[in-house]
This record gives sequence, structure tokens and C-alpha cells, in this order.
Amino acid sequence: IITDECINCGACEPECPNTAIYEGGANWTWSGGTHLQQVELEDGSVLAGDAPQEPVSNDFYYIVPGKCTECKGFHEERQCAAVCPVDCCVPDPDYEETEEELLTKKAWLHAEVEA
Ligand code: SF4
Repeated sequence: IITDECINCGACEPECPNTAIYEGGANWTWSGGTHLQQVELEDGSVLAGDAPQEPVSNDFYYIVPGKCTECKGFHEERQCAAVCPVDCCVPDPDYEETEEELLTKKAWLHAEVEA
């Protein structure tokens, strides 16, 4: 998560290998920065990957939890936390995932679609 200490500098956004970080007020998509052309939701319905989703925050840069892999599979450390000048990119205590879960998510986000 990004806390309300964020100064909206934008430094973290380009560093995310999953495009999980968006500017406050901006819509996000599953397909942005991933190979996801469509996503099956918990209720069984299918969403187009490029369908615009409501911002998680209107005031600060935000991280989409479903796209965040804590940089597993890409980098040794979380890139947003590494570049944030005010150290407001922090783990979400309400959304803890194991390394295995994060690597599985990374594979899902970036799986090449077979022709
Ligand atoms: Fe906010 Fe930190 Fe990202 Fe800058 S790097 S936009 S302060 S979360």
C-alpha cells in the first residue's frame, strides 16, 4: 500500500514491473503492463483486461493489490519502496501473501497467451 504520507512525486509508478501503481484518480486496468487479456472474477463473470477500473485512491498514488507481486520474480527488493523519497510504500498488514503466492501471481500476470 501507499500511505497518505505520499507527496505524489510519481517516482514509484515507472518502477513497478507489473504496472500495479497508478496516479490518484486515474483508472487502472488488469492488462496494463501484463499479458492479461481477460480476467475471471470471483462470481464467474469475465472482465476484459483493458476494461477501466475505478481508482483505489483519488488523492494519492495507489497500488492495485491484485497486480502487486512485491517485485517477486523481477527484483530482490520492492522497487517502489526503494525509490520513494518519503518511505510511504509499505506492506499491507491486511493483505499478506507468501512468496509462493506472489510468484504464482507473477506467472499469472505475465503468462504468454498461446496462439
Ligand atoms: Fe508517493 Fe512515494 Fe510514489 Fe512518490 S514514490 S508518488 S511519494 S508513493
